[in-house]
Amino acid sequence: MKITETFRSIQGESRYSGWPCFFIRTTGCPLRCRWCDTTYSFYGGEERTVDSLVGEAVSSGTSLVEITGGEPFVQPELPELCQKLLDLGKTVLIETSGGFPVPSGLNRECRLIVDLKPPGSGMEAWMKAENFAELGTEDEIKAVLTGREDFDWSVQKLEEWGIWGRVPVTFSPVFGECDPRELARWVLDSGLPVRVQIQLHKILFDPQLRGV
Ligand code: SF4
Repeated sequence: MKITETFRSIQGESRYSGWPCFFIRTTGCPLRCRWCDTTYSFYGGEERTVDSLVGEAVSSGTSLVEITGGEPFVQPELPELCQKLLDLGKTVLIETSGGFPVPSGLNRECRLIVDLKPPGSGMEAWMKAENFAELGTEDEIKAVLTGREDFDWSVQKLEEWGIWGRVPVTFSPVFGECDPRELARWVLDSGLPVRVQIQLHKILFDPQLRGV
């Protein structure tokens, strides 16, 4: 597998936020979100075997392993990697762009954190109902918002696709661009079952740092 980096850090943007986690960042992403903070994962990377990644995950000592990117869903060896981690008793999270359906052969004991990309990302054309159709209560949808227009668009899409009550939803402000207090107010006023979340790792560590 092409891998950009591996590191131990604090999980910062899901229901597992705050827990120590071993991260595997895959290389390559077909999307180009305007506010992407991991553009260094688009190219390069190092060829790694599944077994070497599993071994490193075990050595890290964390029970939580997250595969992120880049876009993990375009990696053919993703199902094999996840299965081996699950067989060892790890809780496996996969963070994905929302631009692709769940790969066939992926053990659904993996918890999916699926982005919903509103217009502020420039990638809303990738968001298709079928990419969200298989998600359930153990997964989550995370919309990262630049402002009110993104909020309204996300609420409308989630309504149209019948997501409310079926998949937990988190709204998160684009770091330094959307005021988290305003977002909290919009959520409270809407009465919708949305969790407001701030990217914890960007508060704990330098937001410009890699590997955090
Ligand atoms: S999907 Fe993720 S890695 Fe790809 S461009 Fe968007 S933010 Fe960056």
